[in-house]
Order: sequence, then C-alpha cells, then structure tokens
Amino acid sequence: MNRNLSFDYLVIGGGAAGCIVARRLADQLPHASIALFEAGKSDENDSATTLLSHLDKQDDSYDWGYKAKPKGCASHELSYSRARVLGGCANHNDCAFIAPHPLDLDRWEGLGAKGWNSRSLSKALSRVENQLHIEETPKGNELSRGFIDASIELGLPEHNFRQGVEVGTGWFPLNSQGDFRQSSSIAYLHPLSELPRNLTVFTEATVHGLLFNNRKVTGVQTDRGIFYCDIETVLCAGSINTPQLLMLSGIGPSSDLNELGIPVVQNLPGVGQNLIDHVAANICCELRSPSPPWALTPCEATSLIKIDPDASSPDVLFHFVMRLREKYAGQTTFSGIQHGVKLSPNVARPKSRGSIKLIDPNPNTAPAIDLNYLSDPEGYDQRILIGGLRFARDLTQTRALSPYIKMEITPGLDMQSDDELIQYIHQTCETVYHPCGTCAMGSVEDSKSVVTPDLRVKGVENLRIADASVFPDMVTVNICNTVMMVAEHAVELIVNGER
Ligand SMILES: Cc1cc2nc3c(=O)[nH]c(=O)nc-3n(C[C@H](O)[C@H](O)[C@H](O)COP(=O)(O)OP(=O)(O)OC[C@H]3O[C@@H](n4cnc5c(N)ncnc54)[C@H](O)[C@@H]3O)c2cc1C
Repeated sequence: MNRNLSFDYLVIGGGAAGCIVARRLADQLPHASIALFEAGKSDENDSATTLLSHLDKQDDSYDWGYKAKPKGCASHELSYSRARVLGGCANHNDCAFIAPHPLDLDRWEGLGAKGWNSRSLSKALSRVENQLHIEETPKGNELSRGFIDASIELGLPEHNFRQGVEVGTGWFPLNSQGDFRQSSSIAYLHPLSELPRNLTVFTEATVHGLLFNNRKVTGVQTDRGIFYCDIETVLCAGSINTPQLLMLSGIGPSSDLNELGIPVVQNLPGVGQNLIDHVAANICCELRSPSPPWALTPCEATSLIKIDPDASSPDVLFHFVMRLREKYAGQTTFSGIQHGVKLSPNVARPKSRGSIKLIDPNPNTAPAIDLNYLSDPEGYDQRILIGGLRFARDLTQTRALSPYIKMEITPGLDMQSDDELIQYIHQTCETVYHPCGTCAMGSVEDSKSVVTPDLRVKGVENLRIADASVFPDMVTVNICNTVMMVAEHAVELIVNGER
C-alpha cells in the first residue's frame, strides 16, 4: 500500500453502516474518490463469516474482544462482542431484522434531531429494504412454534414483524438469503472485484487518529501510513470505536483528555456519554429432550409485550433462544444440563445510561466500557425486566410450551418476590449487543450532543459520524435495520450538501 494517499472522502469502519456509506457515496458522486478503511479482514468468500449458521465468533480474530462492566448491578464482567471484519457486527449477528417503530424516530426528532422523523426517514428505510434480501416469514422449528403458541395462549396476537412493530408474537424476519447473511458488505459491496472504480476498500487497515489543520480534519493516521481527505471524513467505527477515535484525536470531554495528556482540539463533553444498550434477564429452563434442529439461528421467534399498560408501544422485546451455553451468556454456567432454552426479555427503551472512556492515549488499549445497567433513578428498567421475567415464567407454564420443559433452572421457582427477582437480575443481567448513543445527535444548542442533525461533529470541520453512536435514543427492536437507515440517510445529507 502506498504510504501517502489522498481521497475526497474517507470512510472509517467497514461495518453495518460504513459499507453502505462508502458504496452509496461512490455511486452517487461518480467524480469523487472514496476510501473505506476496515481494521478487520475481508469477509468475501469466508464462510466462517458470511454463513449465518456460523455464530460465536466473539472470542477469535474476528472480534475486538472487549469486556464491559454492567456496574450499577452485578460486579461480573461481560464479553462485549464487537466484530472486526468487513461487514462489522452485521457479519456477526443473528440477522434479526426489524424496522424501527415510527414513534422511536419521531422521538429522535423531539430530542433535537431535526428532520429525523418517521416520515422523512421512510425513504432511507425503503432504500435499505430494496437493497437487502429479507426473509419475510422464515419458518422455525416446533419448539419455536411452541413459544409462539404459548404467547398466543397468554393473549398476544400472531404478527408478521415486517408489517410493523406491534404487541404480538411471531417469527423474527431475517436479513439473509438461503444460508447466507445479507450484511451490508454482502449486499452493498460484493463482489469486491466489481466495485466502482472510484471506491477503494482497504481491509486490515486500522485508523489510529484524525489529523487536523486547526480544527479542520485533513486526514487519518493508520497503521499503514497517512491518508488525506480533500472533502470529508465519515466515522463509521461503531458505538465503542467511534467515540474512542474522537477522544484519541482530542475531541471529547476536555477534563478527561487533559488527564490523559491528549491535546484538546475540541471540548465535547458528550463524546462517549449516553451509552444505551438493551439489557436482558433470562428464565433458563432444562428441556425434556434435545431441542429440534433449528434452520439458521437458535433464536427464531420473538414476542413484543407491554408491561406498562400506558406505554405507547411495546416495552419488552423477547428472544427465545434454544440453547444455554453460549460463549457470551454472562457468568451463568449450566454444568450437567444437556438441553436447555432461555426466555430472554429485554428492556426495549431503557432509561439507564453508561459511558465509554479512554484508559490511556494508546490506540491499541481497549476503552473502559461502563454499561451502568439498571441505574436509572426511577427504577424503570428494573421494573420492566421484572415484568418481563414474570411473563417469561408464565410462558413456560402454558399448554403449548410446558410439555417441552423439564424444569426452570434459573432463577428457580423458589424465587418469587420482587426483591428476589431484583437480586437475580442484578447478578445475571446480560447484553443483547445493541450499544448506541455514544456520540448522540442533537440540536446545536444541546451541550450533551456530539453531532448536529446533519451528522457533523460540533466544533470541527470536514467530519461527520454515521453509525449506531449517533442514535439520540434507543429504538424498540434489534437495531441493525435502523443503523443501516442512518447510513442511507447520511449519504443523502452529504450528497445534498454537495449539490
Ligand atoms: C453478537 C451480536 C448479535 C447481534 N444480533 C443482532 C440482530 O440479530 N439484529 C440486529 O438488528 N442487531 C444485532 N446486533 C447489533 C448490530 O449488528 C449492530 O448494532 C450494528 O452492526 C452496528 O453497526 P455499526 O455500523 O454502528 O458498527 P459495526 O457494525 O460494529 O461496524 C464498525 C466497523 O468499524 C470497524 N472499526 C472500528 N474501529 C476501527 C478503526 N479504528 N479503524 C478501522 N476500522 C475500524 C470495525 O472493525 C467494524 O467492522 C448484534 C450484534 C452482535 C455483536
């Protein structure tokens, strides 16, 4: 690779968002040159990545290997998987693919993200849907069907979640085609040999920081040398690495940067703050006999319920997972249990907020990830999770599901009171890997936000962010569809600014 190269646009991070940003910019600005930098390997022809049935890559060379502290609750550390491969976490995930609830997007606008509402974002959502193959109604096995029937027994309507986010139960729509994922690298970039001539994709190229002329971004320092941008750099490194890169480059809370001896380019107190994630708790059960084979992923079915009767949209999202010993299942172990399931409710719109901080100025040091789960002063998250756990337990006792269940292992039927469940939640809560909000979008006046509604980083020039970190608030469902929508809308903003 040449040491010094110059492009019109640099896109940093080839994940769910970055692949879309790079490809769309190249298509829509044919006279501009675009470079995409991805720290991980290429995913092309690598079935370990592109085959949906190959999950569990969290601990190997495809992952950044982060650890996170839930704080507020349990003292245990969680493996906090973040993919390091072209396609990003969209090549790591379970491909559950649901568009956001319109109210989620309207709430974003209410929080200061002017122009980001369900009506104006429908075009970006459609562009994602037109590009990806989505299995509308994948059929799962009889055990997943038992979960859906159990939910119906408890009063939920059966629902196709491609038609919208409602209280109901049904199959997870999947962004997959046959056995293969429809990640954004696969759907927008492959085959790499046929990329537009104005797009260069660098894999195994890690960006270590931004270069400035005063407050104007002029390029990036990578482990392969310096690359310059003539027009703009777009950060798409995800909710952990985007704030990390900003802080390494002197953009963040000045007190923290001063402590680490990093020269401050722009004091932005919101960088790394406002970390939001879907926190889950589980009812884990032993099965009477082995789980029937699943088609693609061990999580085929979901239910969306309301614990708070006044909630305007579902406040709990369920994952019904047909195995127990996942590498990333927190600290709970199930020795001696051969076959199990977990019914995993999570808080759809949590109120607790965590943070990302640098530990030192070395780009190779993982940042400190403090999830700060269940810390909201009103106890909302805890209350919703208790309701979710009670619903999960009721599901295991229905006519449809109980014939499969041998016994509840955790928390165990002797734990019934709110206090006991709270203690259990605090000890065993886990992530469903949906961090967002760490460089939140907001109005110019909002001192806590990091980017303005045109995704420009406040106080510096030629720098935008387009990934999950700009979410002003969580969305009710699995977030990948929304991340891709952000990327599509970002390109519209950039291209419209060019014309
Ligand atoms: C195990 C798991 C299961 C999940 N399941 C689902 C699911 O079923 N449905 C769903 O909707 N969502 C799911 N998600 C979440 C979803 O995949 C992510 O929210 C989404 O991929 C985030 O997109 P992003 O573009 O913000 O970041 P990412 O997809 O993480 O992309 C960031 C990219 O930037 C690269 N990068 C980072 N730093 C640098 C650097 N310094 N230099 C160069 N490159 C860099 C990374 O290697 C990565 O490829 C899951 C996530 C995980 C981890």
